[in-house]
Amino acid sequence: MATTITLIPGDGIGPSITAATRQVLDAAGADVEWEEQLAGVAAVDVVHSPLPDETLASIRRNRVCLKGPLTTPVGVGFRSINVALRKEFDLYANVRPALTLMSGGRYQDIDLVLIRENTEGLYVGVEHYIGMGSDPKAAAESVMLITRYGAERIVRYAFEYALSHGRRKVTLAHKANILKYTQGLFLEEGNRIAKEYAGRIEYEDRIIDATAMHLVLNPYQFDVLVMENMFGDILSDLMAGLVGGLGMAPGGNIGGDAAIFEPVHGSAPDLAGKGIANPTAMMLAGCMMLEHLGQQEASTRVRQALGTTLEARQTLTPDLHGTATTAEFGEAVARALK
Ligand code: NAD
Repeated sequence: MATTITLIPGDGIGPSITAATRQVLDAAGADVEWEEQLAGVAAVDVVHSPLPDETLASIRRNRVCLKGPLTTPVGVGFRSINVALRKEFDLYANVRPALTLMSGGRYQDIDLVLIRENTEGLYVGVEHYIGMGSDPKAAAESVMLITRYGAERIVRYAFEYALSHGRRKVTLAHKANILKYTQGLFLEEGNRIAKEYAGRIEYEDRIIDATAMHLVLNPYQFDVLVMENMFGDILSDLMAGLVGGLGMAPGGNIGGDAAIFEPVHGSAPDLAGKGIANPTAMMLAGCMMLEHLGQQEASTRVRQALGTTLEARQTLTPDLHGTATTAEFGEAVARALK
């Protein structure tokens, strides 16, 4: 029997990259039934809520979701629905692989995985203004929350991921030299957990800013990287840049009871409605979802067809210096499956 999964097309370029992805996954023999649900601005327009109860109930029932990008209003309006979903389902591990699929870029054969803590740090959303005199916004304060529990489970996840995926090394990136309490606790827990894996997985810790530089100078010295929430948010975009840009980078948000797969990129308002977004990241998120469901064969077929299409360089979207539309790229990948 096919596995029912929740499908959220999302905002901006979301619906177009989702349509292309669904076409390709179906053609690859993915044994899934899609249960389409609303979230984000698309949901506000229809049901006046950015995160309808029905969508939450669907994810709770199916436990697996493929999600397009959701727009978050900047500075004002509702808080990030992505953050809300991660909190609601305690999706504590954000797995972001950066893998070269197309040769000829700045780097060849990149194969890195960033594991980002997804529920704590500065993204807990505890922030406020501090008024002084007549200025109600004289200052603003955000809380960076790191718990021993949260640090331990994400570092353990990174080591277990490394073991189960045949990886050799885990690098913990931090800023414990300056943020001695929050980042210090994260590092302390990391060092403790790493000892349990000594002899099986190599381990090192590095300062986050130097890690960013080293990733650009020589990314091959890294393998699996683990860090707290905001550092992971920033460095995973940097890593996407190593393999051709945001259009090429997928992510999985994994918790004990549910998993949501999505592209790393956002809703790209500059491309919305133009039909020229690159659906590769969304298709790769679909592959991660299939692997999570144990449907390795269909996933491998999609990955190979994507590789063939990208290397052929006949049908590329404008971000990869081509002239193809999202739909044309999707059709080319579907043809390559045959
Ligand atoms: P973005 O990722 O949407 O876009 C950044 C740049 O990358 C833009 O130039 C865009 O055109 C390009 N780009 C992104 N995806 C692409 C694709 N598939 N093909 C080709 N080019 C692509 O980031 P942003 O502009 O900072 O954010 C836009 C909105 O998305 C915001 O509301 C933000 O909050 C939201 N966002 C959502 C998620 C998510 O749903 N997980 C992640 C990041 C940002």
